[in-house]
Amino acid sequence: MSDCEVLVVGGGPAGASVACALARAGVDVHVLDRAHFPRPKPCAEYLSPEASRILADMGALERIEATGAAALAGIRVRAPNGAVIAGDFAASHGFRGFRDRGLSVRREVLDAILLDCARAAGAKVTEGVRVADVVRDGKRVTGVRTLTEGAAGERRARLVIAADGLRSVVAKRLGLARVSRWPRRLALVTHYRDVDGVGEHGEMHVERDGYVGIADVGNGETTVALVVPAGRAADISADRTAFLDRWLAARPQLAPRFARATRVSPVVVTGPFASHTRRAWVPGAALVGDAADFFDPFTGEGIYAALRGGEMLAELARDSIAAGTPQAANAVLAHYDARRRAEFRGKWLVERAIGTIVGTPMLINRAARSLAARKDLADLLIGVTGDFVPAREVLRAGYLWAVFG
Ligand SMILES: Cc1cc2nc3c(=O)[nH]c(=O)nc-3n(C[C@H](O)[C@H](O)[C@H](O)COP(=O)(O)OP(=O)(O)OC[C@H]3O[C@@H](n4cnc5c(N)ncnc54)[C@H](O)[C@@H]3O)c2cc1C
Repeated sequence: MSDCEVLVVGGGPAGASVACALARAGVDVHVLDRAHFPRPKPCAEYLSPEASRILADMGALERIEATGAAALAGIRVRAPNGAVIAGDFAASHGFRGFRDRGLSVRREVLDAILLDCARAAGAKVTEGVRVADVVRDGKRVTGVRTLTEGAAGERRARLVIAADGLRSVVAKRLGLARVSRWPRRLALVTHYRDVDGVGEHGEMHVERDGYVGIADVGNGETTVALVVPAGRAADISADRTAFLDRWLAARPQLAPRFARATRVSPVVVTGPFASHTRRAWVPGAALVGDAADFFDPFTGEGIYAALRGGEMLAELARDSIAAGTPQAANAVLAHYDARRRAEFRGKWLVERAIGTIVGTPMLINRAARSLAARKDLADLLIGVTGDFVPAREVLRAGYLWAVFG
């Protein structure tokens, strides 16, 4: 006996997106999350222009904008040699996003609104329930084991969706999770008020020993996300706040901008984050969002990938639960995995290329010098990270030659 048709583990952007779409299609869907919303999530909190399409579709966009979320015109990347790549979302390359601007908003605000949209669409949402394991009938997943305030329970469903983020318990229990050996980086994330010179562009400052993302998140607050090699773990655990303060104070272009700033949230540390799965399904279960894969925060596409993955999975999850036989249901989930790979392959390639370049000062300095002189090429690259310019545009030999040749 199933308690519901589809059980979604995790109510972040991926879980909210898939649950919202399934509930709208009339599917009996239940979301479980260990947290109580609003809850924080370490993140640089930038959403690509194309993410707004899915937010609008979920009925979330106007609500998010009404909270005072910041609109970002583009991204500026400063290389260690001081050269700046300045790309805008609205540009003359012929590609247009759903919006000409990206959004930047605190995750407490964003995620609570998204989960609310899933609820409004008809999804049942239960907070404060931790999923500890999966239940199987032979090889098929038929439900999950839960812990609610220490009390053990069990929920059955015809399909279990793992949207439980990085270090997904469900992916681990299914034997699908793989921690990537490279890159191994840690992030320190916090918020400030009164940082000088924060404008309508998100900023990435790449240094030889890490990079920091800085952006207006609305309501006078600035999000700061510093990413450093995992080898710095001991220094960070000695005093994470002092580590961040020292790192910022040592950058002549940043230190004066933080002189009057006040930190308004604790420094949170997370990582290493790079992980992937062999495949995003097993009989009776499918993975989406960070539970399926995450690489590195540099390109800031995780939320879009989670939302888009949820949208794609919802279409096939319906077919999977309607399939007449277990074999037919498996074929539908395998098709979901293939579609996901086809959709994100280009993005994965670009992310890995950028991950390598950012970690190699000689390459990022070279790329920044070229792109600083060619705004058209910078706009294309920022459009790719904005999810509305196809990745192939920056993987072409001609593009790569113009940047590195
Ligand atoms: C430092 C950093 C900066 C980033 N910056 C950006 C950025 O600027 N822009 C961007 O687009 N992306 C960014 N990302 C990536 C982005 O945060 C993720 O890709 C995105 O949150 C993925 O959404 P999700 O729904 O898959 O997972 P999550 O948002 O992590 O949601 C997972 C949910 O599952 C719940 N959960 C977990 N385990 C269990 C369990 N056992 N039982 C029940 N519930 C559970 C959690 O409480 C959570 O609510 C960043 C990531 C990092 C680490």
